Formats: sequence, C-alpha cells, structure tokens
Amino acid sequence: MSAAEQINQLKAQIENYNYQYYVLDNPTVPDAEYDRLMRELIALEEANPALKSADSPSQKVGGMALAAFEKVNHEVPMLSLDNAFDESEFYAFDKRMKDRLKDASDLAFCCEPKLDGLAVSILYENGVLVRAATRGDGQVGENITENVKTIRNVPLRLRGESIPARLEVRGEVFIDDKGFAKLNQTQQEKGDKTFANPRNAAAGSLRQLDPKITASRPLMLYAYSTGVVEGFKLAATHYEQLMQLKEWGLPVCPEIRTADNAKDAFAYYSDILARRAALGYEIDGVVIKVNDKAIQQTLGFVARAPRWAIACKFPAQEELTTLLDVEFQV
Ligand code: NAD
Repeated sequence: MSAAEQINQLKAQIENYNYQYYVLDNPTVPDAEYDRLMRELIALEEANPALKSADSPSQKVGGMALAAFEKVNHEVPMLSLDNAFDESEFYAFDKRMKDRLKDASDLAFCCEPKLDGLAVSILYENGVLVRAATRGDGQVGENITENVKTIRNVPLRLRGESIPARLEVRGEVFIDDKGFAKLNQTQQEKGDKTFANPRNAAAGSLRQLDPKITASRPLMLYAYSTGVVEGFKLAATHYEQLMQLKEWGLPVCPEIRTADNAKDAFAYYSDILARRAALGYEIDGVVIKVNDKAIQQTLGFVARAPRWAIACKFPAQEELTTLLDVEFQV
C-alpha cells in the first residue's frame, strides 16, 4: 500500500472512532489502540509532508456539536493537548520549548492530574453563571447551560468582592469512583443499561436534552484554566490563577503542584502514577504546563494544541474488552 493510501485509510478509521467517542459517547476501541493509530498517522504525515492536509484528524480537535443542541462559538478556541508516552518524550518536550525560546534555563511548570471526563467552558458575567458549553470541535460547542447548572460543585454565583466583568472558566466534568459505582447500581436496579466507564457515563449524562436526567447523575467539575477574561487582571502564573479561581468558589483539583524544572515535573508524574488507584477518580495521565503565562504566550499554539503543555499519558490500565452500550438520548 502506498503512503497516501495508508494515510487515507488511517484518517477514515480515526474519523470513525472520533464520531463514536465524541458524538455518540460510545467508543468501540480502547484509547491505547486509538492513540497508536493516531501516532502512526502523525509519523506517516511527518515522513511525507506533502500528504499532510488541514482536514487530517491529526490537525484538529476531535469533537463535533450535535444539531440537537444550540451552538456556542468559542471566543478563545478550546484546544486539545499533545501527548508524551514515556520519559524521553517528556524531556524532548522540555527541550523543544527551550530551543524555541533560545534560552536553556529551567522552565517552571504547573502539574495537574489529567482527569478523564470531558471539557466544558463556563461563562460568568458579573459573577453569575450565564452560559456553559461543551468543547465540540474546539471552535463551536453545544450549549449545555441548564445541565451544567445541575452539577453540585459548580457555583451559580462566584464569591468575593473583586470579580471579573466576564470570566470564562474551563474545566473537566467527570464522575468519581463512588458516584460511578452508585450510578451503575441504580441503573441496574431500574433495569437500565449500565455504563462502561466513568468517562462515558459523564459524557452521556452531560449531553442530555433533559436537565432533570443530568441532575440525577453524580457529576463533578474541576476547573483547570480560563478562556475569556474581562475587567480583571489575573496573576502572572497558571498556578496562581487556579488558586484565584478557588477563592472565587470554583472547585480545583487538590493534587495540583508547581515544579521548578522538568526533573521535578517528571517526579510528579511518577508520584501520581503510584497513587493513581487511591485518588478516588479516574485519570489517564498528568498534564504538565509551563507556569509563566508570558512564556506560554511566546510559545503559542500549533494546529490543535498549545506548545507549552503536554499530557503525559499513563500506561493503558485496561483494554476495552467488554464494552457496554452507553445510554444516549437526543
Ligand atoms: P486529550 O484527552 O488527550 O487531552 C485534552 C483534554 O484533556 C482537554 O480537552 C481536557 O478535557 C482534558 N483535561 C483533563 N485534565 C486536564 C487538565 N488538568 N488541564 C487541561 N486539560 C485537561 O485530548 P482529546 O482531544 O480530548 O482526546 C484525545 C484522547 O481521547 C485520545 O488520546 C484517546 O485517548 C481518547 N479518544 C479515544 C477514542 C476511542 O475510540 N477510544 C476516540 C477519540 C479519542
């Protein structure tokens, strides 16, 4: 098979998996297999640059807004993250940034668990929650305001005196281990389908046309960044910004730490990996972000991800052997 044929085949296969995962909330292959195909595609495109096109799944964010929901245009695109699958790939990421900055000094990082749920954008105007949306394809998401309002730890109004006129909070909606066990027990008792894993349960629960169903599901949010901010000067580092979100009453993951250099950031990865099972919620890796916002800005973005952050994925925990159907109502 020629490289062009191989690329076309991989593109079609990945697009199909994206549809099942992001639109139907019902993946049919394990994430590790999906990641392997994506890396094969990226390697082929890198070896044959003339065959790389803007419509390739390697160049865009995977999701898509469903017609059943009102659409929301993201003022600041919601991107994905590049991946590192081992230690050497993580250090290569650190080196790439230093080369680009033409400065070999240590970069400081903000280190966070990579929650396995789905990304949401929540807009507060003068402290009041006015809109919430899914990531969709990164440019256009789905309006899920009423559903997000039902999430127990999402404040409908921010706390404190000094609050931005407009603040877009980004975070991950997920279901923790206890909530997931209870939810599947309830589903079973009702004779309804159980969920394959917490991510599918969270995605299926959030993208419901009836917010009453969402309200009955044990969804949680951890905020991990901001989008649009108006009428307030946020702190100069990502970590301090997260602490500011916490002061305004937004839930932030308690495991977030700063690291002075790449070696310390990798130690964080190892520590979280060792404690993975005891965290109480599913994660599929850690996210390491350059802490200084000005350096983030200098580094900028590539097609689908920032240059200043990387998802260090954990080794696959379980293969998708018995994938059950996920309830999805539209
Ligand atoms: P991603 O999940 O690899 O990384 C980006 C996402 O990470 C963000 O959108 C956000 O939702 C999340 N995230 C969690 N914690 C975060 C934090 N602290 N800071 C920032 N972001 C955080 O990227 P993606 O584009 O959403 O999905 C790609 C991955 O999804 C693949 O690598 C694969 O594992 C899985 N996938 C699987 C299938 C399948 O069929 N099995 C299909 C498509 C995608």
